[in-house]
Amino acid sequence: MKSIALFGGTFDPIHQGHVQSAIELKQRLALDELRLVPCHLPPHRATPGCSSRQRLAMVELAIANTGLQVDDRELHRDSLSYSIDTLESLRSELGDKVSLSWVMGTDAFAAFDRWHRWQDFLTVAHLIVMKRPNEVLPETGPVAELIAQHRTDSAEVLHQQPAGTIRFESLTPYPVSATEIRAALSRQQAASVKLENTMAEAVLHYIQTHQLYGYQP
Ligand code: ATP
Repeated sequence: MKSIALFGGTFDPIHQGHVQSAIELKQRLALDELRLVPCHLPPHRATPGCSSRQRLAMVELAIANTGLQVDDRELHRDSLSYSIDTLESLRSELGDKVSLSWVMGTDAFAAFDRWHRWQDFLTVAHLIVMKRPNEVLPETGPVAELIAQHRTDSAEVLHQQPAGTIRFESLTPYPVSATEIRAALSRQQAASVKLENTMAEAVLHYIQTHQLYGYQP
């Protein structure tokens, strides 16, 4: 069965932590496609530091020649970008014979029970949770119960079943965050924090050219 994973995020801006983790995940799980899905109107966080079009453009630059793909369907909806709507839209496009997965970090997953229609996710897709260092999973409450019911360690299931399981993957850590990158750009510390090591050169160039996040030459 064809396997497609969607990795959603604000990507404000996209950095190597996002890209390298996505590449590693795609390879490790032998996914047919891994699509990055820039969020248009995030329901759970502050308005991003630049427009959806600009964040999409940076994602496109960052994934050039990586084998990753981008899915811009959230930019075509005017409502809040609920991930369940995105998954259902792809599911109705592709039918039931495709395995779909939603990818997120442990930080996002810890608050999963606050997501819109979180109980419907596993009927449409699998969940793949990227474990990051020093992050712990809830041991009690609704998310812990969901894990207990749906967790799998089998890699084959993603290629045999269209939806319904949760798997955890510990990937190579990339200790970089978009929050730190934005702070460095606005404080004109781009050089001192060596931003060229944290994001694709083309993305840094785009930020500098468009003077995003308060960057000034
Ligand atoms: P911010 O600092 O603005 O909160 P963020 O990267 O955490 O940035 P998003 O762009 O929404 O926010 O992140 C998308 C996904 O990428 C989330 O699921 C998050 O857990 C994951 N992620 C963020 N940074 C890394 C990293 N360094 N390595 C692996 N995954 C990451």
